[in-house]
Amino acid sequence: MQYKRILLKLSGEALMGERQYGIDPKRLAEYAEEIKEVIDKGIEVAIVIGGGNIFRGLAGASNGMDRVQGDHMGMLATVINGLALQSALEESGVQTRLQSAIQINEVAEPFIRRRAMRHLEKGRVVIFGGGTGNPYFTTDSAAVLRAIEIEADVILKGTRVDGIYTSDPEKDKNATKFDTITFKDVLTKGLKVMDTTAFTLSQENELPIVVFDMNKKGNLLKLLSGENIGTVVDN
Ligand code: UDP
Repeated sequence: MQYKRILLKLSGEALMGERQYGIDPKRLAEYAEEIKEVIDKGIEVAIVIGGGNIFRGLAGASNGMDRVQGDHMGMLATVINGLALQSALEESGVQTRLQSAIQINEVAEPFIRRRAMRHLEKGRVVIFGGGTGNPYFTTDSAAVLRAIEIEADVILKGTRVDGIYTSDPEKDKNATKFDTITFKDVLTKGLKVMDTTAFTLSQENELPIVVFDMNKKGNLLKLLSGENIGTVVDN
């Protein structure tokens, strides 16, 4: 296997499946199966989940809401998604723990690094909810931060496109995909992988990022088995 400990970043929108809002139980069950496959191979899996399928602080702010208030709502949305994913994983027979960056003790454990790492060693999937716990950040930043903290080998960003392209493949049919690209080239070519804060944190800490299509069945395991799936961003 290519990596021993991974951090998987899933956007909230990915959980919508065919829907316009909220959570699609079918999609959730599919993700749970994909994750179970890699757990069964002995890979340690941590997950950071977004909240964009429910609420984004920026969207609230654009409608006149206080930004911090909106971000608190967004962070709570990630906890809701985390609970949903936790249920789906346990349904598939995977042991899990949900750790939240905001105190919500009746619902989730607080984020404690050593405890999270111990859970991973025991084969439990650790889901990190609540983002970084701070407004003005994104769950991409939370994903990189947690990945570095728990000493993950890589961050896998599951998206609906199968990698990084020269231009947006949904708009430009001449766009070509990179198998690998350096952090520097992403910046000089003006490509978008994550928001700048998250991207820089990853670059500075030499944490590779793999962008891949999480909606294609079997892709996660293939990627971890060393198949040429997605695009690897590295130094
Ligand atoms: N958020 C935040 N701090 C964080 C992470 C998230 O305030 O550290 C809030 C922010 O309002 C964001 C929302 O939670 O819009 C949902 O997260 P994100 O937009 O990253 O979710 P995704 O796009 O991955 O679904």
